[in-house]
Amino acid sequence: MRTDARAVVIGGGVGGAAVLYWLARLGWDDVVLVERADLTSGSTFHSAGLVGQLRGSLSLTKMMMSSVDLYRSLEDEVGLETGWHEVGSLRLASSEERMEELARQAGWAQTFGLPLDLISADEAGTLFPPMSKDGVLGAAYLPTDGYIDPSQLTFALAEGARRRGAEIKTNTRVTEIGVERGQVTGVQTDKGSISTEIVVNAGGMFAAEIGALAGVIVPTVPMAHEYLITRPSGLPLDLPTMRDPSLLVYFRGESGGLVMGGYERNPAPWGLDGIPADFNGKLLAEDWDRFEELMRNAIVRVPDLADAEVVRLINGPEAFTPDGEFILGPSEVRGFWIAAGFCAHGLAGAGGMGKLVAEWIVEGLPSLDTWEMDSRRFGGDYANRDYTLARTVEIYSTYYDVKYPGHERQAGRPLHLSPTYPRLQELGAAFGEKSGWERPNWFEPNALAGEESLRPRGWAGRLWSPAIGAEHRATRETAALFDETSFAKIEVSGTGAAGFLEHLCDNRVARDVGAITYTQMLNERGGIECDFTVTRLAEDRFRVVTGTAFGRHDLAWISSHAPDDGSVAVEDVTSTLACLGLWGPKAREILQPLATESLADDDFKYMRSRELAIGAVPCLALRVTYVGELGWELYCPMEQGLELWDAIWASGKEHGLVAGGYKAIDSCRLEKGYRVWGADITPEDTPYEAGLGFAV
Ligand SMILES: Cc1cc2nc3c(=O)[nH]c(=O)nc-3n(C[C@H](O)[C@H](O)[C@H](O)COP(=O)(O)OP(=O)(O)OC[C@H]3O[C@@H](n4cnc5c(N)ncnc54)[C@H](O)[C@@H]3O)c2cc1C
Repeated sequence: MRTDARAVVIGGGVGGAAVLYWLARLGWDDVVLVERADLTSGSTFHSAGLVGQLRGSLSLTKMMMSSVDLYRSLEDEVGLETGWHEVGSLRLASSEERMEELARQAGWAQTFGLPLDLISADEAGTLFPPMSKDGVLGAAYLPTDGYIDPSQLTFALAEGARRRGAEIKTNTRVTEIGVERGQVTGVQTDKGSISTEIVVNAGGMFAAEIGALAGVIVPTVPMAHEYLITRPSGLPLDLPTMRDPSLLVYFRGESGGLVMGGYERNPAPWGLDGIPADFNGKLLAEDWDRFEELMRNAIVRVPDLADAEVVRLINGPEAFTPDGEFILGPSEVRGFWIAAGFCAHGLAGAGGMGKLVAEWIVEGLPSLDTWEMDSRRFGGDYANRDYTLARTVEIYSTYYDVKYPGHERQAGRPLHLSPTYPRLQELGAAFGEKSGWERPNWFEPNALAGEESLRPRGWAGRLWSPAIGAEHRATRETAALFDETSFAKIEVSGTGAAGFLEHLCDNRVARDVGAITYTQMLNERGGIECDFTVTRLAEDRFRVVTGTAFGRHDLAWISSHAPDDGSVAVEDVTSTLACLGLWGPKAREILQPLATESLADDDFKYMRSRELAIGAVPCLALRVTYVGELGWELYCPMEQGLELWDAIWASGKEHGLVAGGYKAIDSCRLEKGYRVWGADITPEDTPYEAGLGFAV
């Protein structure tokens, strides 16, 4: 076995094989894959093999499309069968809501160049003769979907990698991962050690334990997933795959019989106290009790299933994640990469995922916006196994549900509370959740001042309140008070801090003490990796304030670029500071009587910060706005956040101050054209393309 390599991939499932294949294809021939047992002996060998391409975002869908591109050509390239069947797919709608969901998906698919058609129930029945059309209103048909043989695909990818010089070592278990000064140095296996600066954790359901070897949290939970196989009964061999989300089930043809599985409402997490060290090439015991719900539903759609002979019920564990998306990319340990958490889409995703991760490693950047799959989207909360488990179970059990705009997850809540929480409750807050923080979306009593006639039609109107409009108007006409404690706050300090931030930011941030600068941090292609404000607190201290969900990502981006000579310290101070935003034309009148300093325009200018007291509460006041109105963000010690809220609230009463929620912030910032990273602007956009040239 090699004793050093340019990269070591851990795990010989379809994920690891795909990353190895693409690393080799991109020219890295000095790479090795280590697998503790045999190739495909984790989740891969028992996969149902369905390959669907349409996902919830452009990047995810492009990745799946790129899988199909590879699956079409791989067999010819390596001369090994892959079992790719491009039979197309059907997704049925049996309610008006589902039809609307399909119509949206069809529009969505068009923008990606996917040939998805909306067809009638009769047309669906012709394509999939064993189905009953009862209650079916229509279907979406995607002719380029299909299914593939999981083991054949993995062996073909492995062969493609080997031919380009990659080495594969089976029966080789990684026992330790070397990390020095935050950088990977190699892996220790039961067959010897390999020095390397790049390790890819493609450990499937074992990814969490492999991550732990490097001190990296990989929030995956193995979930038992089941499907049955029927004896061949003369069904057409080219049946499309078929999903009936309302009945929670999926089907595909198998040698004239059927494969049928689904996402039950009472899922079964597995191996929570550790996966047995010899769990390879194994399945779990058939669990007919849990499968009964799916069986009943499946017979509604395919009545002949009631009499079909079941050859086998497959029950196998698979790594799911707390938000149902893959976990890909670099981690806070330099050189430690993750390619795991495929949530029963590992076959569909492998081809494109391997390409994306390999490009990211080889070229330093991914070719797509990867935020939804980025390993750094999960904060430290996911070290809490109960929280991770609760979220993951919710994701699995609601997998096929229609998710309306503004959908909020419920599991594991409440987790982080602002000190103002009891007051926000008293004021009637309708809470949402972001990165574990409870945040008001709006305050229901404000609905009385809003207009019900403005409720958006259809989908968008379901999770909505007239209060949003009322709070928006108050922000523009009087004033509104917002709790923004969940903002991620990062302090960068030290003798080298100014020079370091000047190097990393596209705007001038090392200006005089008190200056606030709106800036981005860019990648090598000029794409926007971070978008936030930087406030200079002292000659050698800066505070970065970024979106609630971006804390871990931005912290990792900043830390990974920081010098390791002790001249710069980077610290997450989110939990030490409460933050309230007071905005609107009356903000000054409300705040001035409480403030120890003059808030007059000449004394406290836009994009400046000052230490002052509001009542008895010491604050750092920032004259910035994300809603485009006069006002301040006030940062104070966490334990005084409620006192600060109460003082401002009392002063604001006579001025018509209202409590505002995040939906009003969103509506105000949209009105002013302020961007949101991850949605409006991404690592694929430069500041000039995004209209942010003024900040460069
Ligand atoms: C019942 C079922 C049905 C499914 N159906 C579909 C489907 O229709 N379509 C679809 O796209 N996906 C489906 N999936 C999901 C798909 O099978 C998985 O997403 C995919 O196989 C995961 O591949 P992987 O490489 O991440 O993990 P694995 O295949 O589990 O590979 C990880 C490997 O890492 C190895 N390993 C672990 N620890 C170490 C160590 N310390 N040292 C060395 N090696 C180590 C393990 O031995 C294992 O071989 C299904 C899954 C199940 C369970």
